[in-house]
Amino acid sequence: MNRYSETLYDAWGQSFAVDKVLFETHTDHQHLVIFKNSHYGRVMALDGVIQTTEADEFIYHESLTHIPLLAHGDVKKVLIIGGGDGGILREVCKHKNVESITMVEIDNAVVEMSREHLPKHSNGAFDDSRFQLVIDDGANFVAETEQTFDVIISDSTDPIGPGEVLFTQDFYGNCKRCLNPGGVLVTQNGVPFMQADELISTHERQQVHFADNTFYTAAIPTYVGGVMAFSWASDNKDLRAQNLEIIKARFEQAELAVRFYTPELHLGAFALPGYIQEHLK
Ligand code: SAM
Repeated sequence: MNRYSETLYDAWGQSFAVDKVLFETHTDHQHLVIFKNSHYGRVMALDGVIQTTEADEFIYHESLTHIPLLAHGDVKKVLIIGGGDGGILREVCKHKNVESITMVEIDNAVVEMSREHLPKHSNGAFDDSRFQLVIDDGANFVAETEQTFDVIISDSTDPIGPGEVLFTQDFYGNCKRCLNPGGVLVTQNGVPFMQADELISTHERQQVHFADNTFYTAAIPTYVGGVMAFSWASDNKDLRAQNLEIIKARFEQAELAVRFYTPELHLGAFALPGYIQEHLK
């Protein structure tokens, strides 16, 4: 393989030079490949779609973790859906006040191969004593569990193949049932410039269950086509409108070692461009 061409969009796409393929297989759920690229480092793709790269993963993982955890301010229990590469887990583990972290990943091969070939993503977090791994469909898990959580982070693939169930109204309703009062659900929600339907349908489906539903964004180079959107769903309308001084104080107290997150970016991420606001009307 000389180049890896992403197949996410019919009309247009990105391609990576492949310096070396580190691992490639058809798991029970999807096609998995991890390869090296001279600019992005190690890159993982599933079913033709780039999932994560060593060079820019910090932007995605810090955005999807520290914004909900610092907005909430008193998180003890976290549920990660998907997330098999370990990047979200690594960021959640930085929060010393978190007492338990459950990850529900459908594909054990992603976890195993990420531990071996993308070790910087988890950076030892799979061995954290607060961590529990469940190999299951995330939609089944939230439908059946009696456990509740302060924050749920859906670090899923796109709504194609195994990830499709993680974008349904039932899934969002079951997440709501699994949240403690004042809790928050965040999800990766694609690139609105390219995947407007995904943004619109998520908004329609989450609004049914949550009093407050919006999106926040970050520009992540490998999710091409503009900013990536993350959905935000909570019954506590005050959470995302915290003032800067509160967020700064929590950030300083948490002593997080980060490269992307800042309290200013945290609040600014909720300021949506007009073309995204149009979709939410
Ligand atoms: N950051 C990436 C992105 O947005 O492109 C996604 C990261 S990747 C870790 C997403 C993970 O979701 C994969 O490991 C995949 O196996 C997992 N996944 C997909 N469908 C799932 C499901 N129904 N339940 C649990 N995990 C699922």
